[in-house]
Amino acid sequence: MERRLKVRLIRLVVQVTSFFLFNLGFFVMPLLYWMEGWILPIDIGFGSPYTNVSGFFNIVEMQLIASVIPFFTLGITFIIGVIAGRACCAWICPMGLINDIVSYIPFKKAKFSQELEETAYLLPLILLAAFIGYAVVDGFSFLVSDFVGMEFPSISYFQYGVFTSIDPYNTLFSTIPWMIIRGEFPNVLQGVWDFIARNPVLIVQVILVVVFIGLNLVIQRAFCRYICPTGTCMGFFGRYKLIGLKRDPTHCNKCKKCEEVCPMNVPILKEPFEHIGHHSCDMCLECYGACPEKALKFRIID
Ligand code: SF4
Ligand code: SF4
Repeated sequence: MERRLKVRLIRLVVQVTSFFLFNLGFFVMPLLYWMEGWILPIDIGFGSPYTNVSGFFNIVEMQLIASVIPFFTLGITFIIGVIAGRACCAWICPMGLINDIVSYIPFKKAKFSQELEETAYLLPLILLAAFIGYAVVDGFSFLVSDFVGMEFPSISYFQYGVFTSIDPYNTLFSTIPWMIIRGEFPNVLQGVWDFIARNPVLIVQVILVVVFIGLNLVIQRAFCRYICPTGTCMGFFGRYKLIGLKRDPTHCNKCKKCEEVCPMNVPILKEPFEHIGHHSCDMCLECYGACPEKALKFRIID
């Protein structure tokens, strides 16, 4: 079997296994509590009736809004980030699996120049700052209200934070299942327009699910590259991660096949050959599998 296909198959098996494990409650109800409480740097909403793992950024948002400094969550993320950077995005994140599957659908994909890619990287940075900024201000307003003993005007439009409210994984695996459990969907049968009028927020959330997931059809892993705050945070560890890839300059003929297949549009040849530590690299190993000279190799710590 072609090396690239083999690598992709192994990754797909790990991704699907993780998906089932993280949503164990959905498939095997009695095992729901086995993993409950785990916090991982992946995009997975909390509060789902079936999901037994919590996503890093969703927890950070919730804790900041509750005026709690998320030391424990940040600590776990720091340890995982230093070891493997944003490898969780490509190997165990359930949203990453969904994005990958849609990306695999044969459709002409846009390939941006490196200059445009670096400019586009501003978007996830701005979004990350906005998500955190909102949560901090919201949490702080509660603290101040408590301290001065008077009701402060609340800005709590987003009970669980801005990102969690628009997070497609949260909508699919938490918001909608809860509505079904609470019996709110039979309303649809009473009239679609009536349902839409009574659930405007849900309609916006569903539109965002379609947009965020659909984008992968034309831009590989678009959601991971330009929106996901968890992936953006994990990318900060790229330069310092202990496990990664390196390029052997004595074997590399600069054919650029690795760059062509990279779903994160990493400028591999511009990276130091001893360490591909770009903030977008999620260790998906597509480049490793595609290199005809086997010039890409694993590096651990060195
Ligand atoms: S695919 Fe391999 S040989 Fe070609 S440029 Fe990339 S690392 Fe070098
Ligand atoms: S550089 Fe290689 S491992 Fe990193 S994201 Fe691109 S294809 Fe995947």
